[in-house]
Amino acid sequence: MPDEEIPVLIIGGSLVGLTTAMLLGHHGVRSLSVERHAGTAIHPRAGHFQLRTMETIRQMGLEDRVRTKSLETYSATGGIVAVESLAGRELATYVKELNEGVEGFSPTVRVFINQDALEPILRERAIELGATVRNRTEAVDLDQDDDGVTATLRDLDAGTESTVRAQYVVAADGNRSPTRARLGIGMHGHGLLSHSITIYFRALADLGPLLADRNQGVHYVTNPLMRGFFRLDRSGNAGFLVVNLVGDTSRPEVIAAFPSAPWANVAEGITEQRALELLRAAIGVPDIPVVIENIATWRAEANCADRFADGRVFLAGDAAHVVPPNGGYGGNTGVQDAHNLAWKLALTLAGVAGPGLLDTYDAERRPVGELTVEQAFTRYVTRVAPYLGTENTQPIVDDFSMEIGYRYDSPAIVLEPGSPPLHEHPRESAGRPGARAPHVFLQCDGGRLSTLDLFGRDFVLLAGPEGEAWRTAASAAAKELGVALDVYLVGDNGLTDAGGSFPGAFGISPSGAVLVRPDGFVGWRAVTAADAPEDDLRQALQALLCR
Ligand SMILES: Cc1cc2nc3c(=O)[nH]c(=O)nc-3n(C[C@H](O)[C@H](O)[C@H](O)COP(=O)(O)OP(=O)(O)OC[C@H]3O[C@@H](n4cnc5c(N)ncnc54)[C@H](O)[C@@H]3O)c2cc1C
Repeated sequence: MPDEEIPVLIIGGSLVGLTTAMLLGHHGVRSLSVERHAGTAIHPRAGHFQLRTMETIRQMGLEDRVRTKSLETYSATGGIVAVESLAGRELATYVKELNEGVEGFSPTVRVFINQDALEPILRERAIELGATVRNRTEAVDLDQDDDGVTATLRDLDAGTESTVRAQYVVAADGNRSPTRARLGIGMHGHGLLSHSITIYFRALADLGPLLADRNQGVHYVTNPLMRGFFRLDRSGNAGFLVVNLVGDTSRPEVIAAFPSAPWANVAEGITEQRALELLRAAIGVPDIPVVIENIATWRAEANCADRFADGRVFLAGDAAHVVPPNGGYGGNTGVQDAHNLAWKLALTLAGVAGPGLLDTYDAERRPVGELTVEQAFTRYVTRVAPYLGTENTQPIVDDFSMEIGYRYDSPAIVLEPGSPPLHEHPRESAGRPGARAPHVFLQCDGGRLSTLDLFGRDFVLLAGPEGEAWRTAASAAAKELGVALDVYLVGDNGLTDAGGSFPGAFGISPSGAVLVRPDGFVGWRAVTAADAPEDDLRQALQALLCR
């Protein structure tokens, strides 16, 4: 007999484990998340949170809190530039302004917020929604059979062991994922890119004059001594410097001297003195007074797991894909793994979904993981390690397509002929099944809400103003299948579309309809009215649920 039973066990209580716990709670599923460490992240690490993550955070009612918290450390604007050093020449601009062009695509914005500031907010919300988070607890063994998974947990303080029986396990246990290793799941990709360090520091002199009018945010540093990047807080005088490579990567004779590990391992034997030299060189002012608060060593890698699932166990976050931080994809992609998986687990546990729905997790998320690994690698090569050459890199896919334009192709989507694979700019996708449903502001009760605010818990049918027949059909089909389905006739239900942009944005006529999954992705659409709308909707729902 196990000591306890739980529908979902989550291994790892950091960014992705806590997000999974929060989203499962939102769907009414109890979970237990176990985490080795005593609390949430102690280092800032992830800081650049993208649109889709912020849309998820908005759905959880946390947008205002996260944006306010972000402003304690960072300004609401910021760019990403490359410099010789903070005092030196500016070499390139990668992102002029973090939120340039965002309006119109999303009701929210990208933010800089450090992972150690975000995680406690996620943890608190997860617990509010019914999750149990147990720190100083390690999962040391897993044994799965046809009916569930038995895990052995070790209480790291008491030194005792207990067992928990779960229907499903989510392994959000990081880039070295013990669960992935236990399941024998391999990784593919570009492997180890560099042994890197992060130097957390505080300057005792004002760096403001060096930054001049450069937007604060991320400053890549490229000089004969090193390559890496700064993330500075709004004062400009504190933050961290990542150093990926040391050595003059532009000189062939230097590369030739270190053929196997050219950018001599900066992490190995790093001392405070060496870190200070690197930091001063990156600032570009010898002898500038700075205090080093911490030095962390880590491996920059670009790899994706060969499978994201094994039976009842699912990999999420860095356990499933590891990328260099360039572009800010690691944590953001993990949050979207959780978003894709939570509703599928909830509907499977509720007996509403067919057995194949959970299989679509790998089918939908692994291609996105592989794309993300390649795109982060391209950004690493172009911004940090040009000596690697671009022969093995994909062309850059723009940030909007990466953040809110990635597409799903699986049995849980009724694809239309001619759909592009993998990604499409949100300007082009216009409600095409497989894409994230577009954002349109509608008016409601004298205020406004985004179409995105209608999604998140159940399936949603959005019909055009002449789509009354869909409303009647939807209620009947949902009742027959026992599926929760919210139906909105735009132009009715208290929802108005003053600008008249809803049908066009979703690629339908005023008599058409779109079926949106709980994760906000379009699963099916009818561009115009149908002869047998109830049959069409029943078939669509059955497909989306893999029944
Ligand atoms: C310098 C730097 C900058 C970055 N910048 C960004 C950025 O701007 N944007 C972004 O999105 N990402 C960024 N990242 C990446 C981001 O930090 C990671 O992608 C993110 O932390 C992954 O979260 P995770 O929960 O999957 O894994 P982790 O954060 O690694 O958490 C895994 C957790 O599992 C626990 N664990 C492991 N095994 C067990 C076990 N057996 N039992 C119990 N607990 C276990 C570990 O203790 C750990 O807390 C950056 C990373 C670095 C290093």
